Amino acid sequence: MSTIPPAPYRRIAAEEGWCTPELMRMYERIVETRSINDPGFYSLWGFFGTSPSERARTLKDRIQDLEGRRLRDMDEHGIDMQLLMLTAPGVQVFDAATGTALAASTNDHMADTIRRHPTRFDGLAAVAPQDPQAAAKEIERAVNQLKLKGVVINSHTQGEYLDDTKFWDIFAACEALDVPLYIHPNTPSPQMVEPFLSRGLGEAIYGFACETGLHVLRMIVAGVFDRFPKLRLVLGHCGEGLPYWLYRIDFMHGGIVRANRCEGAKPLQRTPGEVFRQNVWVTNSGMCWAPPVMYCHQVLGADRVLYAMDYPYQVVADEVRAMDALPLSDEHKKMFFQTNAERLFRLAPQSA
Ligand code: CA
Repeated sequence: MSTIPPAPYRRIAAEEGWCTPELMRMYERIVETRSINDPGFYSLWGFFGTSPSERARTLKDRIQDLEGRRLRDMDEHGIDMQLLMLTAPGVQVFDAATGTALAASTNDHMADTIRRHPTRFDGLAAVAPQDPQAAAKEIERAVNQLKLKGVVINSHTQGEYLDDTKFWDIFAACEALDVPLYIHPNTPSPQMVEPFLSRGLGEAIYGFACETGLHVLRMIVAGVFDRFPKLRLVLGHCGEGLPYWLYRIDFMHGGIVRANRCEGAKPLQRTPGEVFRQNVWVTNSGMCWAPPVMYCHQVLGADRVLYAMDYPYQVVADEVRAMDALPLSDEHKKMFFQTNAERLFRLAPQSA
């Protein structure tokens, strides 16, 4: 049964979550044993992984499925293709060896599924930044052998951020293979999460955006894009708030650098705003609201803004209808739903 009419474009949803049953059991085990130092993880997965509520059960059912209920949900909501990614925090909460092995096995699993449904699914590779060199090798394997279309990292890894040069082999691999890196949200790192959690703000409501926006801004001002000028990043949730801030970030960053106020804020070849406009793409995952989508369209450009549903966290038919009704030209709407994703992730083009 289709509740959403077909459109003159392929609806490609570009930030769609998935979790293997094996990884789900490992998350549940962490919640039971309290074996890691990550209050945000316990808040998110303590609810999602173990709550008996109807919403938690439905989410858990949907997120572990690939070829049953998910395909029916896609048909019902008019979604032609999902770009799959392992849900946050991926394999980033484990020790390096466990995370590295799990990344490879889940990437194999994803690639097998895509091979069975090449018009319905494509996907991004999971990696374990805990071992940056192994992560770089896995990116190469995932792109060259498994034909995955890029990489996803769920913001901080055990409180560490990718602006630390020890992680930069990951950027080198993405740039050399010319595949995008999706910085997906995570709950705020252990060192910043408390004021969020004590008011229920640590997750998708707001904490994700603060954590992930901060992470990408750290990368920009650290000079990642001076060193890797062709690196392409993707951010969800209309850019995690950063597009709104670009003017002020540029104004203030110039002053901080000129006054040499901070050892970690050095002059850049381009302003942070220029880097954002030239190296970052955004999806509207979870932000099915015309004003911020149109704002991103205006300040970043028609070729920079892509559709995403954020399955299975937001599966709402009215949101698809609202995006179909965006006040965009036919050409720009097709770019938003279809051709921007095809170009950015080099998906095999299909007719609508
Ligand atoms: Ca998501």
